[in-house]
Amino acid sequence: MRFLDKNNLSLKEDWYGNNAAICCSSCGKVFLVSQILHRKGRACPKCGLTHATISRTEVAISETPGSP
Ligand SMILES: [Zn+2]
Repeated sequence: MRFLDKNNLSLKEDWYGNNAAICCSSCGKVFLVSQILHRKGRACPKCGLTHATISRTEVAISETPGSP
């Protein structure tokens, strides 16, 4: 599990208000996670191996190990 650093977002990450965009480390898909729409977080819509949850204070990303 890793967390986005709001002051040190990478080129493939964004975080604004209740929404964050992250890049799946398994397939490279960039996807959005919203605190309002995805109360239990959201998995990568392409491969499902990366799961992100956003709260008021943090964006947590869990990546399934062992994926190509
Ligand atoms: Zn993916």
